[in-house]
Amino acid sequence: MIRVENLHKHFGGFRAVDGASLEIAEGKITGLIGPNGAGKTTLFNAIAGVLEPTSGHVFMDGEDITGLPPHDLFHRGLLRTFQIAHEFSSLSVRENLMMVPGHQSGEALWNTWFARRQIAAEEKALRDQADEVLDFLTISHLADERAGNLSGGQKKLLELGRTMMVDARIVFLDEVGAGVNRTLLGTIGDAIVRLNQERGYTFCMIEHDMDFIKRLCDPVIVMAEGKVLAEGSAEDIMRNEQVIEAYLGTGLKNKAGANA
Ligand code: ADP
Ligand code: MG
Repeated sequence: MIRVENLHKHFGGFRAVDGASLEIAEGKITGLIGPNGAGKTTLFNAIAGVLEPTSGHVFMDGEDITGLPPHDLFHRGLLRTFQIAHEFSSLSVRENLMMVPGHQSGEALWNTWFARRQIAAEEKALRDQADEVLDFLTISHLADERAGNLSGGQKKLLELGRTMMVDARIVFLDEVGAGVNRTLLGTIGDAIVRLNQERGYTFCMIEHDMDFIKRLCDPVIVMAEGKVLAEGSAEDIMRNEQVIEAYLGTGLKNKAGANA
């Protein structure tokens, strides 16, 4: 579904992504791991249109999508989740879902009376959809809560929920488990698996928690120093000498290194 060819992203003379090549197969949950500073987030941003690659190519379904802006990728169903924007934190959880760009008619209708009815109907549909998403994520009880009051893990679920308001095909998740308690991590994991199995979402996720990776991801791709170092099942990866060395090289203070 996604093919990354010899991608580079340099910051001045520094090669954060230094010729990375990889493929993400449709229907899979691919893990992306590697020591801190390996270039994982930068690679995500270069794929998802947040950063312009220095060189190299990204293909989606065989079509060159290198450097396309996020909104173009969004229409193709390629999404990267982001933390809830500051200005949305005072809106309710349901409203945050309803704010995801859709196809509202708004001013397009010349007659205000018809427009009003049209908008009301669309709002009702959006609201129903938002409630379905909350139900799917088992957080219906939070519908009227201000997004800003959610715990870290609940915010992650809401981020995931936002991808369900559009027709996502592939979702990039950057450390969705970071700082999330065990129980909620389980809920997030369940939601990812169900989105994958029941709705056909393809995922690529950066994660440090190897247990979480092992449970969800196959294959796992390892990055180090801007390049892809290895790819395989979680078990293979955790036995791979090069991978272990890459982690140890960055010191045991690194959480993933300690787990691996
Ligand atoms: P990871 O997500 O694997 O921990 P990052 O992609 O965040 O790694 O960062 C890779 C390297 O690129 C790091 O050394 C980081 O300091 C550097 N880097 C990331 N973004 C920038 C930037 N905007 N300007 C300069 N250097 C950056
Ligand atoms: Mg990162």
